[in-house]
Amino acid sequence: MKPALPGATIGILGGGQLGRMLALEARRMGYRVAVLDPARDCPAAAVCDAHVTAPLDDAEAAAKLAGLCDVVTLEWELIGLEAIRSAKRRCPVFPGESVLRPIQDRLRQRQFLAERGFPQTRFWPVDDAPSLQDAARQAGLPCVLKRRRHGYDGKGQRWLLRRPDVASAAELLAAPCVLEARVPFVKELSVIVARGRDGGMAAFPPIENVHHGGILHSSVIPAGVSKATARAAAKLGRRVAEALGHVGVLAVELFLLEDGRLLVNEIAPRVHNSGHVTWGACRVSQFEQHIRAVCGLPLDQPRLLSPGAMVNLLGELWAKREPRWERALARPVALHLYGKGQARPGRKMGHLIALERTTAAALRRAEGAWRELI
Ligand code: AMP
Repeated sequence: MKPALPGATIGILGGGQLGRMLALEARRMGYRVAVLDPARDCPAAAVCDAHVTAPLDDAEAAAKLAGLCDVVTLEWELIGLEAIRSAKRRCPVFPGESVLRPIQDRLRQRQFLAERGFPQTRFWPVDDAPSLQDAARQAGLPCVLKRRRHGYDGKGQRWLLRRPDVASAAELLAAPCVLEARVPFVKELSVIVARGRDGGMAAFPPIENVHHGGILHSSVIPAGVSKATARAAAKLGRRVAEALGHVGVLAVELFLLEDGRLLVNEIAPRVHNSGHVTWGACRVSQFEQHIRAVCGLPLDQPRLLSPGAMVNLLGELWAKREPRWERALARPVALHLYGKGQARPGRKMGHLIALERTTAAALRRAEGAWRELI
């Protein structure tokens, strides 16, 4: 398969913020970009060359997009497989169906990891109230019930803290779920790995993440972990990418336990919110690396240039008034806004990145600028 060189057209299934940032990097590198997204004013619309306005699961629209492109990729792993197949009849699609199939369903993802011996939390398939009671008894409280499909940013999830929560969680069971034992982690990490068309791989230094209410709040690179843990995280990331036969960037979210063990939380076969901090902090951003991988170009070595921190800007910041941009930008931070019209609580509207001599200083700087916005 020939590489898609600058000047070629890259198709992106999904035009949210990840699609937008991919498109911006692709354009900087001289590519043309076509996007499929149902919203006329989606974040990527303003920065792409062509926009097919249709639902993401629309197989005909996916074929139309692919007809405009030399290679197609995605910003969201839950795209219908029929749309993926239909795009693939017209041009190469990365990642493909064989990667997405085990990822799209939480239970399948856990089984995929279990079959290959990846460390993870204990889990139970749950389909009804009796199987939930049974699983909760085995898992012990607290534990967390998650919808098998279409849960993200803590959506479609419920923590079961006390016995009565088990009975009242029944409403989540309208769709099949997985129950997970709580992991008493000391840190949350993510490792971002790129795998090229030729199987070559490159891992970014591990990133350390803090979530608020199930939504990512901040990320720092490099994670404050020992060299051995950083190496183990990178190795896990590479093994996951290899096991899936992935092409592109892939994020593996990890829990670090007190005894130094790492457990896989989940896999995102795409660029990832925690990886935004690679922009500026590393020699190559996750976005450029993804484009290199799916286009069949050589991967760059994602060496760290500076410790960095990223803080997400969620819709709450707009609750009272427009954020005070001029105050935040008086500090040395980079502002990334996604051009979303409506600010709703929990909606990711943008992020700030700060680079400093240490991750602690970078995080202080980014958090300080974030506070100035309120
Ligand atoms: P998820 O959408 O599954 O990544 O969950 C969002 C966040 O909820 C994670 O980043 C963790 O902070 C927390 N979480 C999810 N599952 C577990 C678990 N089994 N044990 C402890 N914390 C969890």
